Amino acid sequence: MLDAGFILENADLVKLNCKNRGVSDVAVDRVIVFETKRKELEQKRGETAAKKNEISKQFPQAKAPEAKQALRDQAAAIDAEVGIIDDELKILKGDLLLNQFQIPNMTHPDAPVGGEDANKVVANFGEPRTFAFKPKDHVALCEALDLADFEAGTKVAGQKFYFLKNEGALLEIALVQYAMQTAVKAGYTPVITPDLARVDVLEGIGFMPRDPNPDTRQVYTIADTDLCLIATAEITLGGMHRDRIFDEAELPKRYVGLSHCFRTEAGAAGRDTRGLYRVHQFTKVEMFAFCTPENSEAIHQEIRALEEQIFIGLGLAFHVIDTATGDLGGPAYRKYDLEAWMPGRGEAGAYGEVTSTSNCTDFQARRLGIRYKGKGFKGTRFVHTLNGTAVACTRALVAILENYQQADGSVVIPEVLRPWVGKDVIVPRK
Ligand code: AMP
Repeated sequence: MLDAGFILENADLVKLNCKNRGVSDVAVDRVIVFETKRKELEQKRGETAAKKNEISKQFPQAKAPEAKQALRDQAAAIDAEVGIIDDELKILKGDLLLNQFQIPNMTHPDAPVGGEDANKVVANFGEPRTFAFKPKDHVALCEALDLADFEAGTKVAGQKFYFLKNEGALLEIALVQYAMQTAVKAGYTPVITPDLARVDVLEGIGFMPRDPNPDTRQVYTIADTDLCLIATAEITLGGMHRDRIFDEAELPKRYVGLSHCFRTEAGAAGRDTRGLYRVHQFTKVEMFAFCTPENSEAIHQEIRALEEQIFIGLGLAFHVIDTATGDLGGPAYRKYDLEAWMPGRGEAGAYGEVTSTSNCTDFQARRLGIRYKGKGFKGTRFVHTLNGTAVACTRALVAILENYQQADGSVVIPEVLRPWVGKDVIVPRK
């Protein structure tokens, strides 16, 4: 979330940013009202509490019992007044926070302004494959090669669930290994994170698990607990260092985390209904970094380069999108998406998102209380946080199966994955 003081002092800028990001700016006016009132009340509290100090100082001089009692009465009245101010402040801070949550992060000055149409392709890798035969989509390939069972998934957990089978299951494990190894070689610490997290950790990262509207809530909550199924390991990796104060010398801290991801995908009804592209549960390897503000743009480029390296290694054609303001989501200051060519997508093939990396500056750290101290400044500062997909398994599977299919119905396994799949080609089972 943005700092309330910053919003108060830069209201016009924050409102323009909301407009560019296609978000209502009503919360900005509310923050201004609540923050102004909070400052007034904090001042009043300070002045009232100071009066009590004065009374305490007078106490040793008061000899007569009546004089002592009078001072005690005055002190009690002040305590009551402070208590009332504290109650008011508690309610006010709750209201302030709720409205701060609704205001998105500020935006990198170079991010394209506009909606989805303004997304800008900033790099191209490889050419979409052309076929001398009519290519199948990944659903047909999964069925023909017995790589996934959608019917069983629906039976057990509902629509948009699936079982991966045979080389489908091995390919997922291979993708996890390959992505993990690549990130570990680049200095990222490997972790396996919980698949559940507390509501307030999700809020710190920028999700709205308490949102009564299921279309915008997007996450599964666990009844009778304050826990949610995580939508991404960004949540658990960010939450890992909640309330931590780093020494500057410890930064940057880089992690690569493996988790399952759970998404209600409410509001996406009718979109990508077939197969593995948009599902309720998938496995993802996620990179996450904590760093100083001076380093975050360089680390953002580093994560983007690692994503590119992973998809170049898989031999897929893809491009990189500099995401437009209207498509950034709340926490991102800047976001790059990789979109890989998927021959079975749409009528004649199309690019589909496979990874996403965001620089969230201090937006998540402020709410999660993650700071650092250093030699060049007094007190503490908030760290910057960044995240990026190393591999989202089902999306990568879609791209691999559709791009590596052969005229005879077999699918060649990308070379980098072969050590973990244990074969070069998936052929139809007898
Ligand atoms: P996000 O955390 O929303 O940026 O998503 C990270 C990556 O996860 C995306 O780039 C996709 O590759 C993948 N992804 C997102 N949502 C889904 C979904 N519902 N099903 C499968 N993969 C997904």
